[in-house]
Amino acid sequence: MTILMLCRSATATMAQIDTAPVATWLEQADNERSRDTSRFRLIMEQLRQHEDQLTSAQRWHFRLLDARLLVDEGDYARAEPILHDIIGHSGDLSLAFRARAALIRSKFLSRDYVSAYALANTLMAELPRVTDPQARLEGMSQVIGMLDRSAVGQYDLALAYARQMKAWPPSPKTDCYASAYETTSLLYAGKLTAADPMFQAAIDACVAAGESHQADALRLDLASEMIDEGHAGQSIAYLHSISSEIRASGYTPYLASLPVTLAQAYLSLGDAAKARKFALDSIAITGADSPLWTLRAAYEVLYQAEKKLGHDAAALAYYEKYVAQKTAAMDDAKAIALAYQTVRQQVSSAKMKLDALAKENNILQLRQALASQAQKTSQLFNALLLALLAFFVLAMLWLWRSWRRFRWMAHHDGLTRVCNREYFVVQAKRTLRQLHRTNADACLIVLDLDHFKRINDTHGHAVGDQALRSAAMIVGRELRPNDLLGRLGGEEFGILMPDRPHDEGLEAANRIRQALASTPVIVDQQVTVTVSASLGLASAACSGYSLRLLLVDADAALYRAKEGGRNQVAAHAPLAESVVSC
Ligand code: GH3
Ligand code: MG
Ligand code: MG
Repeated sequence: MTILMLCRSATATMAQIDTAPVATWLEQADNERSRDTSRFRLIMEQLRQHEDQLTSAQRWHFRLLDARLLVDEGDYARAEPILHDIIGHSGDLSLAFRARAALIRSKFLSRDYVSAYALANTLMAELPRVTDPQARLEGMSQVIGMLDRSAVGQYDLALAYARQMKAWPPSPKTDCYASAYETTSLLYAGKLTAADPMFQAAIDACVAAGESHQADALRLDLASEMIDEGHAGQSIAYLHSISSEIRASGYTPYLASLPVTLAQAYLSLGDAAKARKFALDSIAITGADSPLWTLRAAYEVLYQAEKKLGHDAAALAYYEKYVAQKTAAMDDAKAIALAYQTVRQQVSSAKMKLDALAKENNILQLRQALASQAQKTSQLFNALLLALLAFFVLAMLWLWRSWRRFRWMAHHDGLTRVCNREYFVVQAKRTLRQLHRTNADACLIVLDLDHFKRINDTHGHAVGDQALRSAAMIVGRELRPNDLLGRLGGEEFGILMPDRPHDEGLEAANRIRQALASTPVIVDQQVTVTVSASLGLASAACSGYSLRLLLVDADAALYRAKEGGRNQVAAHAPLAESVVSC
């Protein structure tokens, strides 16, 4: 009867596929895989025959489904190269992510647990970059399924992931899987009873989404939980009520789970004969060397049922089979636990290395920051130093110039800009000392402007000042570089002429007198004043090298020049005094 029903459903499916466009077959195949295994296979067969009609993207999709079919069939050796090809060459991020999830499943089922857990770890790291809901669901489901196993015992992590899933954009499929994983994580952790409404809510969500495999898995878990809680009778009734749905899905693991769970329930009730019958039914579905847990459970039931029935030999035979299965399962659990811990260790040591690297990097960055700060500080310091140096140099320059100005001011007369009396005396004495050493010639002239008081009285003091300044300039122009000119006071000047004999001195004095008398001084472009002067000359040859004596003699000569009528030069001579007139 069941076979007849399956044949009818298969014929109907074929008819539907023939009329559907190729593009939708892929979508249907994707959906049917977790709903109706036989329908999934049929669509895949149909797609294989029309493979040449698929576009490049569709072909990659088909290859993914094909590889998953191979994994379901246990042909991992053929499935894995296809999955690697999709990951490496499809160029489709979502499809590659789904292929990785399928590869993890293949690694897990082929008992390469270390690879499976390592890949699961990288898959979770990549999940945030994947947006396709189907790809996210497949990846997350695969990882949760590997965490909530008794060998691993990561029920809390599985629960956390299930709750993350619940926060995803809602869809019937997401609701089904998220509720199912939440329920099983709590159940396996011992935090949920069969009476909890969460159980039925999850089953209802999966039925509503059409996810029959997931609904069946939950139903079978619920039935087992009823037995564990001591409600075997209730479990049997429930199992009978769901048997038609489980058979309809055609999924071998659940087809085998149904009778073995019934067997466990009957054994629990003490009905050894029925327990034996259902256990044998389960073995008949899976085959005597199936890797499914149902086989171990079936042998355990058979061993206990036969023992109860008094069939010791049969009991012993089943016991041996049960122990062999149990040992294999325990070895497997150990391998899973070890693989999980190994990967965890690897991940945490890689993380530690990364942390150390990050710390090193931080230190490096800090050092660089410090170095650049130090560089900036040193640049600032250098700039400051330079500014300080420049300031210091400028200050020194200013000080030097001030000192020079003050010194000049101390040595010179502010009005006429020639040496003042004090400086003239010092310099003249020093020069005379030097001249004395070599007995060289020298003349000293004392010059007094004539009737200067009149200029002041006639034109005012300011004009007098200007005339005084001009007279000094005119006198200066007539001198040689090593002659010394000084203002002795008022309108009286002294001139020391080194290396000049008496006659040359007289000539020079006359040139000066003449220059003054012949140069009119124009003040403010208005007043024209002519200033004459009387000059008295004394020479070292006659008066010696004492400045005081030279001045006395020159003054006496000057007096005579004034007496003689002014504007003339008079020279002091030891034997005869001569007056040179204009
Ligand atoms: P003499 O020919 O006899 O020398 O006649 P003098 O008027 O030049 O003689 P006296 O010594 O009596 O007068 C000098 C005058 O020079 C008096 C003073 O007013 C003037 N005098 C002295 N120093 C300055 C000065 O710095 N500026 C001006 N404007 N006049 C000055
Ligand atoms: Mg005078
Ligand atoms: Mg005078």
